[in-house]
Amino acid sequence: MKKGKRLYEGKAKIIYATQDKDLVIQYFKDDATAFNNQKKTTIEGKGVLNNRISEHILSNLSQIGIKNHLVKRLNMREQVIKLVEIIPIEFIVRNVATGSLTKRLGIEDGTVLKEPLIEYCLKDDKLGDPLIAEEHIYAFEWANKKEIEKIKKMILRINDFMIGMFRGIGIKLIDFKLEFGRLKVNGKNEIILADEISPDTCRLWDSITDKKLDKDRFRKDLGDLIPAYTEVAKRLGILHEQSNVSAVNVTQLSSVKKKNK
Ligand code: 5GP
Repeated sequence: MKKGKRLYEGKAKIIYATQDKDLVIQYFKDDATAFNNQKKTTIEGKGVLNNRISEHILSNLSQIGIKNHLVKRLNMREQVIKLVEIIPIEFIVRNVATGSLTKRLGIEDGTVLKEPLIEYCLKDDKLGDPLIAEEHIYAFEWANKKEIEKIKKMILRINDFMIGMFRGIGIKLIDFKLEFGRLKVNGKNEIILADEISPDTCRLWDSITDKKLDKDRFRKDLGDLIPAYTEVAKRLGILHEQSNVSAVNVTQLSSVKKKNK
């Protein structure tokens, strides 16, 4: 598949055109940002790990009937995805209260929620992705009621599946962010899951120790982000147990791949 011109560059990914107008290439960068871009760095190997982890989760979701944009992983940093019209909402799913929820409402950190809580944020970096009510979505026609009902059903299914998948490997799925898009199929819009699911977009805590295995290691200056993401990948069975992946090893893996291209 030939990489065409750059269509869009986000904080962690770049989208390139291909010769097929319905397909694009999603490139995972090593850039890490937090707090609305105020904190920025590059963490070598992060993109490689997120590419693999997201591919694994989206392929598994596809097998349980959750339609999503992933076509196939191309190499260490790129995947072919279906071009969709992204709904400009970040769907936040919470099983345990932490992060912005605890700050906003004074809820004790770590409170287990009786039911999964879905929150909506407007996808707008300039405004800092503000929390919105479902009514805002209809008032400003960011999506219609039918689409949101469908998305909510998909979210609960995704959450159930992911809680079980992570529980099986000794990880608690605390919360995560999802994005959805519209795909034209036979002239009709279909809602499919888009973006990525990775330790960049989820909070993942070790079941026994509560050790953070996600982007909070960067947000909270805890260090060792690559070993944490590697641990997630190893437990998911993506990387072999014996491979001692460090930032250096991941970089080596990506450069070996580049030389082989
Ligand atoms: P919080 O609202 O507590 O900051 O985040 C809730 C969950 O959504 C966390 O798992 C966090 O990683 C994810 N999340 C929310 N907004 C974003 C975003 O703009 N980018 C990424 N990568 N994750 C987000």
